[in-house]
Amino acid sequence: MKVIDYIRQSDKTLFSFEILPPLKGQSIKSIFDAIDPLMEFKPSFIDVTYHREEYYYKQHPNGLLEKRTIRKRPGTVGICAAIMNRYHVDTVPHLICGGFNKEETENALIDLHFLGIENVLVLRGDSIKSEPAFTPTEGGHQYASELLEQVAQINNGIYQDEILENRTPTDFCIGVAGYPEKHFEAPNLNTDLKYLKLKVDLGAEYIVTQMFFDNQKFFEFEQKCRDMGITVPIIPGLKPFSSKRQLTTLPSFFHIDIPQELVAEVEKCQNNEQVRELGIEWCAQQSKELIKHGVPSLHYYSMGKSRSVSKIAAQLF
Ligand code: FAD
Repeated sequence: MKVIDYIRQSDKTLFSFEILPPLKGQSIKSIFDAIDPLMEFKPSFIDVTYHREEYYYKQHPNGLLEKRTIRKRPGTVGICAAIMNRYHVDTVPHLICGGFNKEETENALIDLHFLGIENVLVLRGDSIKSEPAFTPTEGGHQYASELLEQVAQINNGIYQDEILENRTPTDFCIGVAGYPEKHFEAPNLNTDLKYLKLKVDLGAEYIVTQMFFDNQKFFEFEQKCRDMGITVPIIPGLKPFSSKRQLTTLPSFFHIDIPQELVAEVEKCQNNEQVRELGIEWCAQQSKELIKHGVPSLHYYSMGKSRSVSKIAAQLF
């Protein structure tokens, strides 16, 4: 079923979460171990992230450098199918611009359709370490809005490969990302929202936000979206804090602020076990307030670790 239909058909806040494919070479068991404890809270859908291939250089004994590619976390499409097969729950594969040309994107979408997957979260994708800024793949897309247009076209039976013209069109429900604290490259929030509105105008049916630790940021963002005429459901993304290190890593990876009150509480903790307990409490309070506010779903970034999310969900769902 489509994410948008789950939202429309429910009169209460839904539960959903995101997982990462395991590192290349590891078994799918780590995914199942992360999902098993969360199934009792009846997630409506599970997102699976997509990771761009990266480059590295191997030095040969003769001194020559060879450029090699590796996708550290492969398997998004297959993992979605495996999750649906095992748990009978809908999955939302993330689809990214980076690393794919239009034909490869089309093939991925055809595979997803063939597997009975009805949802995609359409994203530009992160830049890779070896690049100073995001660089589109030759024949691929620069922005999520362009990728979204391709998905919308396939939904209307317009394919890159002319042989496919007479096939039954796909019918993907399309979600996109939004940033309560603005995307780090955008000159200001209003400009970022202008492009968010473009994604909605092109066919995005809902928005999932970047994580935030201060609900006020979400409420202001949601109001600004509504003022700009963005009417689709906005799903808050939440992450339970779990280590002291995250005081610096989360702001640098995700370009978000940590509220001073949370920083002060984390600094008081003697060890990471205490930080985890604090993170659960903070995220549970955020969740309760967001449910009261009437958000369509609470979407947790589990990052492959279910313990904290399951303790929060146990208080709410
Ligand atoms: P876009 O919507 O393309 O926006 C990127 C930037 O360009 C913004 O600053 C925007 O304001 C600007 N912009 C947009 N359109 C235009 C235009 N037409 N002209 C000029 N400027 C424009 N990354 C992954 O690699 N894999 C994942 O699985 C993944 N999952 C994510 C899930 C969520 C919920 C979120 C919030 C992020 C996720 N990311 C993922 C990270 C995301 O790919 C990065 O934040 C990326 O830098 C931006 O992606 P986007 O889809 O928001 O890009």
